Amino acid sequence: MAVLYRKYRPQTFADVLSQKPIVQTLKSQVKSGGFAHAYLFTGSRGVGKTSVARILAKAVNCLNPKDGDACGKCGVCKQIENGQFLDLAEIDAASNTGVENIRELIEHVKFSPTSGKYKVFIIDEVHMLSKGAFNALLKTLEEPPKHAIFILATTEINKVPPTIISRTQRFDFKAYSPADLLPLLEKICAAENFKITAEVLGLIAQNADGSARDALSLLDKVMTLGESPNLEETEALLGITDIAVCENLLELIVLGKANKLPDFFTGLAEKGTDYTILNRDFLEYLRKVLVFKVTNGAQVFNLAENHKAKVKELADKLLLNDSIYIIRLFLKSYKDLSSSPAPEIPMLLAALEAAIKKGSLSSAPTVKPQTFVAGDLVPEPVTQKPQPQIQESIVIEEAGEAMTLPEVRIVWPKVIEKIKAINSPLGSLLRNGELLDVLGYKIILGVKFLFNKQNLEHPKNFSLICATFEEVAGKKMTVSAQVFKDEKPQVDTSLALSEALKVFGGELID
Ligand SMILES: [Zn+2]
Repeated sequence: MAVLYRKYRPQTFADVLSQKPIVQTLKSQVKSGGFAHAYLFTGSRGVGKTSVARILAKAVNCLNPKDGDACGKCGVCKQIENGQFLDLAEIDAASNTGVENIRELIEHVKFSPTSGKYKVFIIDEVHMLSKGAFNALLKTLEEPPKHAIFILATTEINKVPPTIISRTQRFDFKAYSPADLLPLLEKICAAENFKITAEVLGLIAQNADGSARDALSLLDKVMTLGESPNLEETEALLGITDIAVCENLLELIVLGKANKLPDFFTGLAEKGTDYTILNRDFLEYLRKVLVFKVTNGAQVFNLAENHKAKVKELADKLLLNDSIYIIRLFLKSYKDLSSSPAPEIPMLLAALEAAIKKGSLSSAPTVKPQTFVAGDLVPEPVTQKPQPQIQESIVIEEAGEAMTLPEVRIVWPKVIEKIKAINSPLGSLLRNGELLDVLGYKIILGVKFLFNKQNLEHPKNFSLICATFEEVAGKKMTVSAQVFKDEKPQVDTSLALSEALKVFGGELID
């Protein structure tokens, strides 16, 4: 395994994929001789920590360094590449956790280098060291001999004691994006003379978890399929969810077909679906749809044309808020998977919730009948206010998607603050009101008295609120007030409930 990873491992700073700021800093340190004697490289697996550590060991010892980089050709560079250089010690802390391992290493630190200029000690997975081992290491890191360089690498920086971190120069390696990995994959396929489509390469890059090592070991596997593997056989080989499953699931949600979901999931269970993989891949699919929506389709994915068209079709049927809401539901189901007694429950629940919400939204009238409540008993026929209504009709034509109540809640304090600066009494009035609901493009604000309501809906104030809201939120919405005294107006939940009952075949008990 990982044949390609070993074969194409970067040998000089120039070969390192991305991580530019780190490489630049290390090169200039080597060039000026101003390098540290203890480094800490942190980042997830497969992002180049150990490779860069070895290159640094080469660069400081290279017989023929160029511009702070190792030549990759001299005796020292070759010895390091082949693991024969006596002044480089690599320890895997995961299997050498004890204090005696570190003591043994520290014994070696005292002696001058055998053949190179510097003795370099690479301690991989340093967070695995025992407390005693950390303490022993700490003493050496406080005063390392001039000829020694320590490079500690870890995937779990939070498990490294602060006393160690503070004695090192820390570099945070970033995970690779699929866009970072693609050129590497292309280069290697060209060097290996292996024919492969951009689509399959994209699939590999996206499933590499930000790791170059994973990307290349996936490519190793795909190469076993022979020349020009197609997307379907690659998905099957790598255990990646068939994209059609994600498409069908989102389609059921988008169409609000909650009653079809239990059968859909039963079908998946019969096929032996791994829900951890399915949930992960469905989230990735939802991300694509969301990005497509946000960028108006500007973002191009490594998908076949028919799948791209499907992303567009589904994105068009979803409001931005819906997409965000659905992603949140499936993030939660992903988290709940580990504690669920049956693996299909969290995803089924998330899908039902999303489909019911979508179904109830699309079947609900744009303007719900107004509720009014005991107290001042002010019915609020929308038609009585010609000016707001005219404005509202303009709004709906131009606005695109309406905002949801939670989104309005986020921007609302800022709106009040701005209004207060222009019209202080109106600002106070808004502050004393309570955000109750959002109906279509209308924000419903609860106020205590009838004169509050009249004041708020005075054309001048109404315009100021709408204009300020648009300025802050970048969305055109209108505001309407409802008077309440003791009891707050209730938001209608019966619709979603009756949908849920249909699915589960229950009935409503008073
Ligand atoms: Zn060299």
